[in-house]
Amino acid sequence: SSNTAPLSTTRIIAITNQKGGVGKTTTTINLAAALALKQRVLLVDLDPQGNASTGLGIEYDQRNIGTYTALMQEAEPQSLATETEFDNLSIITANNELAGAELEMITDERREYRLRDALRALEGEYDIILIDCPPSLGLLTLNALVAADSVLVPLQCEFFALEGISQLVKTIDRVRRAFNADLHLEGIVLTMYDRRNNLSELVAQDARGFFGDQVFSTLIPRNIRISEAQSHGSPVLNYDPRSTGATAYIALAEELTKRNIEKSKG
Ligand code: ADP
Ligand code: MG
Repeated sequence: SSNTAPLSTTRIIAITNQKGGVGKTTTTINLAAALALKQRVLLVDLDPQGNASTGLGIEYDQRNIGTYTALMQEAEPQSLATETEFDNLSIITANNELAGAELEMITDERREYRLRDALRALEGEYDIILIDCPPSLGLLTLNALVAADSVLVPLQCEFFALEGISQLVKTIDRVRRAFNADLHLEGIVLTMYDRRNNLSELVAQDARGFFGDQVFSTLIPRNIRISEAQSHGSPVLNYDPRSTGATAYIALAEELTKRNIEKSKG
């Protein structure tokens, strides 16, 4: 009840990196599932590829209402989410028309605020909302950054991991100035870490040099069970709870939660 108290109890995190294949969708699905062990979680699939929807086992015929519907304001926000077969985990799916949404919105007023408006109407129904962004910094990602409280950036432990990162940081700064003054960095997650490969360690050191303690201590290992789970339409912690991938995403959820408790105290 102080002046700095957040306006809502729902926290919205955009999972963003304009590069494809760095682990955005994988992190969104598996972090969502790990957080859902203790909280009510909504995943928003904002990538026209719909990989998060597929990864949570949502059939195509269940995707008629989704993020496109939300952006076009074609339905009541309360009807946008679909329950998954996993406890405490709902999703706003990517529908087919989403690929055309950027062009359709281009001349609309408040085009940057469409997702924010839809998610604001859901406040209180979830403890945390994770948005899986497409691999670009276009209008869809902009909608995510305007809707979000914070940005989580997955970095793949591979060559050129940090390439393009300064552009992302600049974009976040611009969004903060123009649309969403409170937007902050939730943190950097190192993904597909391979401890047998020196390059992984070099990338981790580079990232820590650049972002300091904003890099999560939890490393997400390269683990075949993670990609297998996705093709079975399931988070890895449901598919193989004892895998290194499942353990890592549970640890990431705990680290994220702990950090936020500390931040809110400090
Ligand atoms: P993005 O959403 O950034 O494009 P994805 O999350 O789809 O990236 O990941 C790209 C590919 O890498 C997918 O096939 C996914 O299954 C695989 N992948 C992601 N993270 C891991 C991991 N930790 N271990 C093994 N495979 C992974
Ligand atoms: Mg993706």
